[in-house]
Amino acid sequence: MSRPVAVVTGASSGIGAATARALAADGFHVVLAARRMERLTALAAEVDGTPVECDVTSPESVEALAGALDGLDVRVLVNNAGGAFGADYVENADIDGWRAMYEVNVLGAVRVTKALLPALVASGAGTVVWVSSTAGLIVYEGGGGYAAAKHAETAVAETMRLELSGRPVRVIEIDPGMVKTDEFSLNRFGGDAEAADKVYEGVAEPLTAEDVADTIAWTVSRPHHVNVDRLVLRPLAQAAQHKVHRVHRSN
Ligand code: NDP
Repeated sequence: MSRPVAVVTGASSGIGAATARALAADGFHVVLAARRMERLTALAAEVDGTPVECDVTSPESVEALAGALDGLDVRVLVNNAGGAFGADYVENADIDGWRAMYEVNVLGAVRVTKALLPALVASGAGTVVWVSSTAGLIVYEGGGGYAAAKHAETAVAETMRLELSGRPVRVIEIDPGMVKTDEFSLNRFGGDAEAADKVYEGVAEPLTAEDVADTIAWTVSRPHHVNVDRLVLRPLAQAAQHKVHRVHRSN
C-alpha cells in the first residue's frame, strides 16, 4: 500500500463518512472504523479504503483495529465516533446515558489514540484530529451530559498537545456548532424524529457533514509544521450557542 493511511472512527455515517470521502480524495488510503460493517463495506468500496468493524468502547475491538494496521504508514487518526444520548437536565440525569456519552466520546477516543500513537509517531508526520463540539467549550440547558463529555474530550486533546511536544504528531481539535446529519439528533432523542427535526426547525442552512469534513481535510492538508490547534465552525444562522436565527413560516 503506497498511499499514507488515515483512520476515521465513526465512518459509517454523518461527519465520519464525509471525512472518509474527503481524505480519500486527498490521496489517503482510508481505514473506516465503526460498528455497522455493512455501511463501512459499501463506503470502503466507494473510496477504495478498508472497512474495520470496531467498537471504540471495547478494548479487544480497538486492539484488533490496531492489529489490522500493523506495518502500515498510519499518518492520520480522526477521532470522530461519538454522539449525544438524551437532553436531560442535571436534576433528572439518566446516569446510564451520561456514562455512555463519556465511554464513547472520551474513553473510546483515548483508547483508539493510545493504540495508534506508536504508529503515528513512527510515521514521522502524524496527526490526531479530535472531533469535539462547541459543547466542549460552552454549556446549555439540557446539554449537561454531552457538554461534560465534550469538555472532557477537549481537555484531553489540549493535554495531549502539551505532552507530545517535541514528537512529530499534531493535535487538532475541531469544534462544530449545529450540523444537520441524519442520525445525530435521532440518536440523541432515542429515535423520536419529531424531536430531532425540531433542533433544525426554521434554520436556513445548518452545517452539513460535508462542511465539517472539508474543514477537517483542510487542517490535515496544511504543511505538517502548521498545527491548527482548535477550529470552531458554526452555520451563519448560529451566531452563538444560544443565538440561532430561525425563520418560521406562517400558513
Ligand atoms: P452520527 O450519529 O451520524 O455519527 C456517529 C458515528 O459514531 C457513527 O458512524 C457511529 O457508527 C459511530 N459510533 C457511535 N458509537 C460508536 C462506538 N461505540 N464505536 C465505534 N463507532 C461508534 O453523528 P455525527 O456525524 O453528527 O457526529 C460525529 C461526531 O461529531 C460526534 O463525535 C459528535 O459528537 C460530533 N458533533 C456533531 C454535531 C452535530 O450537530 N451533528 C455537532 C458537533 C459535534 P456505528 O453506529 O456504526 O458504530
